[in-house]
Amino acid sequence: MTETPLGLDASHCLIAGQWAPCDSGETLPLLNPSDGSELCRIARGGQVDIDRAVAAAQEARKGPWGRLPQFERGRILARVGALVQENIDALARLEALDVGKPLTQARADVTALARYMEFYAGAADKLHGQTIPYLAGYTVYTLREPHGVTGHIVPWNYPMQIIGRSVGAALAMGNACVLKPAEEACLTALAFCELARQAGLPDGALNVVPGLGAEAGAALSAHPGVRHLSFTGSVGVGKLVQAAAAQNVVPVTLELGGKSPQLLFEDADIDAALPFLVNAGIQNAGQTCSAASRILVHRSRYDEVVSHMADRYKKLRAGPALEDMEVGPLVSARQQEIVEGYLAKGSDLTIAAQGQIVANAPKGGAYVAPTLFADATPDHVLSQEEVFGPVQVVIPFDDEAQAVQIANGTDYGLVASVWSRDGARQMRLAKSLEAGQVFINNYGAGGGVELPFGGTGLSGHGREKGFEALYGFSTLKTVAALHG
Ligand code: NAD
Repeated sequence: MTETPLGLDASHCLIAGQWAPCDSGETLPLLNPSDGSELCRIARGGQVDIDRAVAAAQEARKGPWGRLPQFERGRILARVGALVQENIDALARLEALDVGKPLTQARADVTALARYMEFYAGAADKLHGQTIPYLAGYTVYTLREPHGVTGHIVPWNYPMQIIGRSVGAALAMGNACVLKPAEEACLTALAFCELARQAGLPDGALNVVPGLGAEAGAALSAHPGVRHLSFTGSVGVGKLVQAAAAQNVVPVTLELGGKSPQLLFEDADIDAALPFLVNAGIQNAGQTCSAASRILVHRSRYDEVVSHMADRYKKLRAGPALEDMEVGPLVSARQQEIVEGYLAKGSDLTIAAQGQIVANAPKGGAYVAPTLFADATPDHVLSQEEVFGPVQVVIPFDDEAQAVQIANGTDYGLVASVWSRDGARQMRLAKSLEAGQVFINNYGAGGGVELPFGGTGLSGHGREKGFEALYGFSTLKTVAALHG
C-alpha cells in the first residue's frame, strides 16, 4: 500500500517552502506496524539537507516571518489549527497506519494538535516584557525575543502532540523551525507541515527533514545555526543531543520518559480511580512517556485493586489500528522485541491478568498481550525501567512514608498521582513527590494543552506545553536607558 500524506510525495523534505527529494535522493521504508507491510518510502535526509533547512529558517527570520507582528503570527497559527481539525479523518488514518495507534486515540491526537495551535495562536501576542525600577535617571525594561532557529527532534509515539507542543510554541514566539521526525513514523509530521504551508506560514518558517537519527538528527543537534533544541525520546539519545548542543552553547529541552506512579491510599475512591489506573498504562499500547506503569496500593486495599484491574485486563484486546480496539500493535518489531524481553524478565512475578491478541491479527504485526504484574518489589527491573509497552506492575505499601519512598525510588520523575480523600495528605504529597506534574484524584497521561509538562532526573529538564513553554522558546533582553 502506498500512503501519501494529503496527496504529497512522502519521500520529500520541505525546505524553504518547497517539497523535494533529499540531496542524496535516498529513501527509507516506512512500515505499517499492524501488519509489517511497507506503507511508503520517506526521505533519508542528511547533513546537506539540514544545512539547507537551517539556512532557509535563518532567511525566514530575516524575511517576512521575522517581521510579522505577534498577532499576525497568532492568526496564522489559528488557521493551521482550523485546517488540522478539518482534516481530522485523514490525519487520524495516517497516524493509525504509521504508528499503529487505534483510530479513536489517533483522532484524540489530531484534536490535541489543533488545540495546541489554538492555544499558541492566542498566546502569541500575550507574552511581553516588564519595566524594572532602577537608579535615578534610568528607564529599564525587558524584551522577550525569539531564539532564532529552533531544532525539533520528535519521536514516533505521539508525533502530532509533540509537534503541536514544541513547534506551536516556538512559532508563536517568532522562531523559525527545523523539524526532524522519527524514521519509524513521520507521515503526520509531513502532513502538518503541508497544512501549515497552506495556512499561509511563510516559506522557511517551518522546514521538515525526515531521516535516520544518527544522520539527520545528529546533524541538526550539532548545527551551529540552531539556537535552541527540543528533544523527546530515549535517555541515551537525549544525552547525545545535550552534548552536541553544549558544543554550540545552546539551551536544550529534554523530555525522556518515565516510570510514573499512581498512589492509592486506604481512603481512596477506588471506583473513581479504576478507569485511570489501567487507561494510563495501556494508552498507545503503553508507549507513552507519562504512562502510569507503576501502581502503588496501600496493603489494606491491595487485593481489591489488583482484582478490579485484572478484570479489566482480561477484557483488553490488541489488534490492528484501523479496527480500533483499546490496544494496537507496538510501533515496530524492534519495540516488540524490547517489550517481550521485559515480559521475560517478569517471569519471577505473579501475572495477575493478561489481555489477548485478537485471532485475526496479521502475523507481521508487532503485537504483545497487555500484561498486569502483581506483587512486584520496588527494586524489580519492571518497577524501575521504562518498558514502553502495555505492561503495569502493582506494588503494595504500608504507610505514607513508604509510599513516597517507593514513588521517588526510580531515576525518573515525570508524572505522579495521589488517590486519597485526605486533603492534608494531598498537599503533603504534592510537595514531596519528585515529578514535573502531580495529579490529585485523577491522572493525565500527557494530557492538557494548557498544563506545563516536563521532568526531573532522567525524565529530562525544561518545560513544554502551556504558557510556560513560551519562556523556553524565547530569550530575555534587558534594556537600560540613562536619560538623566
Ligand atoms: P530515540 O531516542 O532513538 O528516537 C527519538 C528521536 O531521536 C527520533 O527522531 C530519532 O531519529 C532521533 N535520534 C536518534 N538518534 C539520534 C542521534 N544520535 N542524534 C539526534 N537524534 C537522534 O528513541 P526510540 O529509538 O524511538 O525509542 C527508544 C526508547 O526511547 C523507547 O523504548 C522509550 O523508552 C524511549 N522513548 C521515549 C519517548 C518519550 O516520549 N519520552 C518517546 C519515544 C521513545
